[in-house]
Amino acid sequence: MSLSEIRERIARAEAGAGRAPGSVALVAVSKVQPPDRVAAVLDQGHRLFGENRVQEAAERWPPFQERYAGIALHLVGPLQTNKARQAMEMFDAIHSLDRPKLARTLARLAQETGRCPDLFVQVNTGEEPQKAGVLPADADAFVAECRSLDLAVGGLMCIPPAEEEPSLHFALLAKIAARNGLDGLSMGMSGDFERAIALGATHVRVGSAIFGERDYG
Ligand SMILES: *Cc1c(COP(=O)(O)O)cnc(C)c1O
Repeated sequence: MSLSEIRERIARAEAGAGRAPGSVALVAVSKVQPPDRVAAVLDQGHRLFGENRVQEAAERWPPFQERYAGIALHLVGPLQTNKARQAMEMFDAIHSLDRPKLARTLARLAQETGRCPDLFVQVNTGEEPQKAGVLPADADAFVAECRSLDLAVGGLMCIPPAEEEPSLHFALLAKIAARNGLDGLSMGMSGDFERAIALGATHVRVGSAIFGERDYG
């Protein structure tokens, strides 16, 4: 599927939900994709990309940033505290703030450097043991803890369980965000971004539908 088709589908979903055109940001998740596919999307004018590993992003993006102006990078995958400094330098947003230790590290670095990427707290809405994120029952307290550290949380993020109807998870995430006064909702991937937009997504993270299947081989 092409980038322009995805953009059209986003526009239709925005209109269908009575939302303003352009209210949903498309984070093109380029992890693992070969550089020629990434360049093709850059050539079509897209500038907002998501990566899930700090190291991979650090290797692949500097050459593109020399060739294309205005690139914004979002970290959508887990962040180890020992990579936090590098991540804060490289990314405009981090979608995976998921534990107190990481919050304390980011807060310290933000004080030290005077800048901080946009932050999304990842919520494990499906309460899956293998998945990152704070549990729904702990989300309010964690957001409050971040705020007490002067860490500006802008929104919430979730990755619904693969085998469940994602809309239930999107609705839960939206409810937690609303009661915490958070505007940002990072939710929706290739298979479900229209449903996420209907439930208020401000950022959809779409990979394979734009770039094609990932080849991990
Ligand atoms: C890989 C990934 C995506 C994109 O998934 P697709 O199904 O390829 O659209 C979105 N979010 C996160 C956190 C990811 O790791």
